[in-house]
Amino acid sequence: MTAEPKPCDLLVSGDLILTLDADHRIIKSGAIAVTDKTIVDVGPADALGVKWTPAATIDGRNRILIPGLVNVHNHTPLMITRGMIEYIGFAPMYTPGIPQGHWLNEDDAYALSRLGMYELLRAGCTTVMDFYRYPSSCARAAAELGVRAVIAGRVHDAEPGSLAGGRHEYSRAIGEASLKENAELIERWNGHDGGRIRCDWAPHAPDTCSDDLLREVKKLADAHGGNVHTHLSQLPAELEAIKARTGLTPPQLMDKLGLLNDKLIAAHCIHMDRHDIELCGKAKMTVAHAPIGNAKGGRIAPIMELQEAGARIALCTDTFSGDLIEAMRWAISMQRIHHQGNVLDPKIVLGWGTREGAQALGMGDQVGSLEVGKKADIVLLDNRSPTLAPLIDGYGVLVHSASGHDVDTVIVDGRVVLSGGRLTLADGDAIIANAQKAANVLWQRAGRQPIG
Ligand SMILES: [Zn+2]
Repeated sequence: MTAEPKPCDLLVSGDLILTLDADHRIIKSGAIAVTDKTIVDVGPADALGVKWTPAATIDGRNRILIPGLVNVHNHTPLMITRGMIEYIGFAPMYTPGIPQGHWLNEDDAYALSRLGMYELLRAGCTTVMDFYRYPSSCARAAAELGVRAVIAGRVHDAEPGSLAGGRHEYSRAIGEASLKENAELIERWNGHDGGRIRCDWAPHAPDTCSDDLLREVKKLADAHGGNVHTHLSQLPAELEAIKARTGLTPPQLMDKLGLLNDKLIAAHCIHMDRHDIELCGKAKMTVAHAPIGNAKGGRIAPIMELQEAGARIALCTDTFSGDLIEAMRWAISMQRIHHQGNVLDPKIVLGWGTREGAQALGMGDQVGSLEVGKKADIVLLDNRSPTLAPLIDGYGVLVHSASGHDVDTVIVDGRVVLSGGRLTLADGDAIIANAQKAANVLWQRAGRQPIG
């Protein structure tokens, strides 16, 4: 006798499901059942059609289903610099001639963060770690658009004007203000919407924070219990400043202050010698690898060496875009240039952009694969796109040929937040117009005449 069908909230079908689970299960003509924001069944569509009576369905004909992508380091308000910073510099905080972070007001940060969050969803990123000034604006943008986010403030006590001028001058008042901003963010937003929005601490970089400020962050982050997010060994200027101040390398300083551990997610990790790499590996920290940004700055990070030494590698887009699929193939190509060999394959970098990112953020049991018990964060790609053919093993064409533009529908926490490439919870056109308006004013202040 067949069991009675059970009710569920949503049944999503697809021509193909790449589960990215531990066995890399691929299901042809599959379906996913969702109840209470959670995946309750994954399998052949025929079988699930008999087992479940859904309240709503998404017909996934001509669709490939993959888990929502996990982007472990981003600054949505820095969308302001895109398409311009590439001419002028590398890391915005150290670069003169662009709108500086301290020029933005809260409304600017909110308008630009909405643009960044929109782009992330449009490209299939369902989880993002985002930190900048006015972090509550970023949390608000993520909450409103339906993104799963870890948000932090940009904690530093180096005076931004001095950094853009090539100097490191520290101000206690700036440090205290940025600590206050991060603390207020945590108070207001941590745990919002059933934990969809989480908050952490983010000291900007070891050279933009004094030793005292880093010690204070360590204390606060230990009490809070989440990750610590930072930039590490990003620039020669950072190494020189730390050397002059402490006689150490950036990883040595972080280690001395107790911050180099498995809770640390550090972007870049470019300028590291063998000793630094071994130290980071032993600490089991996570490298937030930003291949697109690194390449645009003419740099390659030693991520294979860091992985070999024991560090976890996860992926991010940092300042430049929200398309993590593009970042995956840049990661592969750059390491093949660096090592003059075939050192990476699509399955590994897909893992970095999903499971590894989820693990790093302490969400390994929640997101990063399509499995029973995980959150229903699902991306549907349109497989009528010419870039997704021919499908042979699925992974190769996805990483080497697809892009965020092939994303049709995005589900976060069992809720459709993007459909037919359009946001469902906000007006995408208005978001772009408002971000352009904010950018026009800020770039005019930097001496440019925007055409948008
Ligand atoms: Zn960054």
